[in-house]
Amino acid sequence: MVYVAPLYRPPSEASSLILQVTIGCSHNQCTFCYMYKTKKYRIKSLEEIKQHIQWGQSVYPHARRIFLADGNVLSMPTQDLINVLHILFEEFPYLERVTAYAGPKDLLAKSDEELAQIRQAGLSMLYLGVESGSPKVLANIQKGVTPEEMILAGQKARQAGFLLSCTIILGIGGKELTAEHAVETAKVISAMQPHYLGALTLMIEEKTVLKTQIESGEFQLLNPLEVIDELIMMIEPMELENCVFRSNHASNYLYLKGTLNKDKEKLLRTLKEAKNNSAMLAAEESRLL
Ligand code: SF4
Repeated sequence: MVYVAPLYRPPSEASSLILQVTIGCSHNQCTFCYMYKTKKYRIKSLEEIKQHIQWGQSVYPHARRIFLADGNVLSMPTQDLINVLHILFEEFPYLERVTAYAGPKDLLAKSDEELAQIRQAGLSMLYLGVESGSPKVLANIQKGVTPEEMILAGQKARQAGFLLSCTIILGIGGKELTAEHAVETAKVISAMQPHYLGALTLMIEEKTVLKTQIESGEFQLLNPLEVIDELIMMIEPMELENCVFRSNHASNYLYLKGTLNKDKEKLLRTLKEAKNNSAMLAAEESRLL
């Protein structure tokens, strides 16, 4: 077995060679997430990573893009990660970009200088799961950071020169916190100014704390129109300079693409149109099919 399953990557890394340098997630506590719950977190040894790189060379020697899995690659000691990046650029002559998931706590744990060194060694883009900007929602889902810390993590990544791709989750505040989730997320994202922003819609995974909260009635899911309302409330106050926005994941009820703020009015028009025309929304059973 080359990979320690299950393996995840962002949709935009579909054509990338995936190399696993850590196993699992160093946080692994978010109440909605089951991605790495079956794995005990660890950083692979350099010997294991070299073997994996050798395998990668044998199957994809012309790789132009490499995604470093699993979650939180920045939890590696800085010099080890830099060494791995040097090996990658030596061994893959066509390599153009290396990307990874980043956890906010791991970003905060690195100094600005360390982040700049990692960026210089060739890690160019980070995927950061922001999920929400609401302090209550972040606490409820056990994200492990406050909105202020999340903003700082994103700003540190940008200042070090990384391309920053953030995701937020529509519906993650439930019915009770939908308005707060929308308004506070707009503030946090505006403060971070990511280059890319993806809005997913909450999907309930088996064996998660959130599933139990739904079953007990503690958490109430939004219906599709409430999700649309939430996104309207979120986009309206956002102030972004040049952010590629996508809400075209298989989890979404409505597919949207644009650049914020340039296309804000167009996106809002489409959302308001969808409120009056449910035929524009994906059927519940087709989500993630
Ligand atoms: S940090 Fe990401 S991968 Fe880790 S538990 Fe939270 S959502 Fe899941």
